Amino acid sequence: MEQSNFFAISNTLQHWYEKNKRELPWRETNDPYIIWISEVILQQTRVNQGYDYFVRFIRRFPNIKALAEASEEDVLKQWQGLGYYSRARNLHAAAKQIEECFHGEFPKKYPDILSLKGVGEYTAAAIMSIAYRAPFAVIDGNVLRVISRLFMIDEPVDTARGKKTIAEIAQTILDPQHPDIHNQAIMDFGATLCKPKQPKCAECPLQAHCLAFAKNAVSKYPVKNKSTKTTKRYFHYFHIVYNNHTYIRKREANDIWKNLYEFPLIETPTSSTFPELQNTEAFCRIFKENRSIVFTHKLHIKHMLSHQIIYTDFYEAKIPASENFSLSNGFQKIPIDNISDFPVSRLIHKYLEKF
Ligand code: SF4
Repeated sequence: MEQSNFFAISNTLQHWYEKNKRELPWRETNDPYIIWISEVILQQTRVNQGYDYFVRFIRRFPNIKALAEASEEDVLKQWQGLGYYSRARNLHAAAKQIEECFHGEFPKKYPDILSLKGVGEYTAAAIMSIAYRAPFAVIDGNVLRVISRLFMIDEPVDTARGKKTIAEIAQTILDPQHPDIHNQAIMDFGATLCKPKQPKCAECPLQAHCLAFAKNAVSKYPVKNKSTKTTKRYFHYFHIVYNNHTYIRKREANDIWKNLYEFPLIETPTSSTFPELQNTEAFCRIFKENRSIVFTHKLHIKHMLSHQIIYTDFYEAKIPASENFSLSNGFQKIPIDNISDFPVSRLIHKYLEKF
């Protein structure tokens, strides 16, 4: 493809963006802190869902200092329901890093931004281009798809070679005068027009430049090598109501939802009935001599994460105040109404919304 075509692609994208862009608070600023927070929230989260979180997060932590000085529990609480909690933990750690290593000033150089905890090439390029108008092309899933279709990239995009090819093309078509607009335009274009399924080719302003469209091969791109492996897990939660109190515990293992709170949990390798659960060692350990308490099955949820499906059963036990009840050590007994003070996973949140 000729150089003039690269200009034409970028011009067309920018023109399309000016007419179609959504008015969003992080687009009205070049403050790197705001851009950073918005980019992290929008990773793996749709704009509609992320919008309210962004507004709440910025209201609670309006600058680097406020975020660095907050407790991790507070940060996780603001993040509750968004998923991928390592993003929140990394934001918090990186804010402290900026306070300690960069005198509280958001770094301006690409390697310094890349050195922040949790910041990868995509986020660093987004901050460099949008906040500082430096010519760094961003490559997220949307950009990758648009480029692979426009240029019919046959190398699988999930291989090092495929990624390198896409990165080179992304940098070539970038408008160095307006990297901020170009980058936001191509990402928005991929999210709303050149979508993974049923792209809107009929109304696409880049149709004349698109090799995949010309060859009637849009559905073949992007080419991928591996299919994602998904693990199935089986969770059983026990919601105990005793004297207006319930029991929770902080997850501490290096697993999903580290440092979030949850009800007593038993995880089994396959799906299990309640009588089967009662015979497990974990059940004896948690409930000790209270093994005969009556549980009611309240809810079954199939909870999807990026690489895991968690089949979850929630059981509830209402224990009369007259009974002498306690759980094994390691659980916190809290007033039921106080549970909203603790950060919990989206899965627990779904249950609490219903009961
Ligand atoms: Fe994407 Fe279709 Fe436009 Fe090609 S013609 S860039 S596949 S929307």
